[in-house]
Amino acid sequence: MGWYACAALVLVAGCYILVPLFRGPKGATDLDLPDETEVDRLLERKAVVYRGIKDLDFEYAMGRLSDADYRRLQADYKNDAALLLQKLDQLGSSEELDKAIEKDIAARKISLFASGPDRKALHCPSCGAEVVPGKKFCADCGKRI
Ligand SMILES: [Zn+2]
Repeated sequence: MGWYACAALVLVAGCYILVPLFRGPKGATDLDLPDETEVDRLLERKAVVYRGIKDLDFEYAMGRLSDADYRRLQADYKNDAALLLQKLDQLGSSEELDKAIEKDIAARKISLFASGPDRKALHCPSCGAEVVPGKKFCADCGKRI
């Protein structure tokens, strides 16, 4: 009897701990975010490569890598980073890229703050761009709203 009770308790505790791990983050699924763009994917990969370079430097500083391994891996990462930056450049000048990112952020903020069907879309009186609720200035033209 005592053994069964113990086993049942372990099972219940195990489920309590494990089940949330297999669920997505709360509320993330009901957000209707715009599709990931090519720029998003490249920026994400760039962040991964940069993190890899930092980790590599750390591992080398800790003495866990030989000089040869360090140089070879660092060259690989730098090649990857150069390719990614090249691709990002091909997608547009950095100014255009900044604009694309700003627009994307604004769109995501709008969908984040959107609450229910009674929400009215706010527009800038100066340029007509959609405005994030609660903001005092237009993200597109910079005029006060
Ligand atoms: Zn404006």
